[in-house]
Amino acid sequence: MYIDPHAHMVSRTTDDYEAMAAAGVVALIEPAFWVGQPRTFVGTYVDYLSSLVGWERFRAGQFGIRHYCTIGLNSKEANNEALAEGVMEWLPRFAMKEGVVAIGEIGYDEQTPLEEKYFRAQLALAKELALPVMVHTPHRDKKRGTSRSMDVCEEMGLDPSWVVIDHNNEETVRETLDRGYWAGFSIYPSTKMGNARMVELLRHYGGDRIIVDSACDWGISDCLGVAKTARLALASGIDAQVVRQVTYANALCVYGKSGQIHESDWLDPPEIDQRTLYEGNSILRGGREPRIEHPRQAADDLLID
Ligand SMILES: [Zn+2]
Repeated sequence: MYIDPHAHMVSRTTDDYEAMAAAGVVALIEPAFWVGQPRTFVGTYVDYLSSLVGWERFRAGQFGIRHYCTIGLNSKEANNEALAEGVMEWLPRFAMKEGVVAIGEIGYDEQTPLEEKYFRAQLALAKELALPVMVHTPHRDKKRGTSRSMDVCEEMGLDPSWVVIDHNNEETVRETLDRGYWAGFSIYPSTKMGNARMVELLRHYGGDRIIVDSACDWGISDCLGVAKTARLALASGIDAQVVRQVTYANALCVYGKSGQIHESDWLDPPEIDQRTLYEGNSILRGGREPRIEHPRQAADDLLID
């Protein structure tokens, strides 16, 4: 039983949902982010946020996966000031919706003054709404960007135990943990972190405050990153309790502070009924037979092997 606490499902197919469910993913968190193509209207951004709390949540449920999201203005689009100002006005309304477990993913991309401005504004919003924060750390100049992200969180008065610093690597993890934050790791082919490297990190650091995610999106990525890492870790002799912490329990603990994600959501789930419609739309095509079933009893499946 796994949680993937960072998955951009709007860019993924129904095959991915089926594969994730079959691999044991019971819940996932979809952070608001950029979508490849820069948005030029506030309205397109608002509709994207609506899809995270609406259609995508419904779509995941049609495959027996509980869907949560984080709401935020990403660092890249923070550099379009007109767009950013408009989006900021909408964020409080979305952040209070059902299933929103954090403000995120926010932080730095190129570490510009505008990124800094909207990062700080959103940290203030998270504090005001008593929501956890998911921080995206930059791919370029990562070490400095990660330290600076934590500096800013502290300057804004955030409690590190409410903040997940994501996309860590071997260079950043020590400082992230020492300063009291949760350390997310995105298992991303060839760029961020492979899962064999992740297993070595678990061997060295154990499971406290470490979180594994797939960060699957529209680029080359693997929606089974969490499940494959769990299996590789167990096969490599990592303690089952540590594996459970980093692929399930830790994400539930930190994002659970929102009051919007509970284990009972998937231990006692609603039925899968693919006859259900969302705003008149179905995931079915043509004469396809709808799947109608009570999901497998995940509660019996606590052991990860
Ligand atoms: Zn992401």
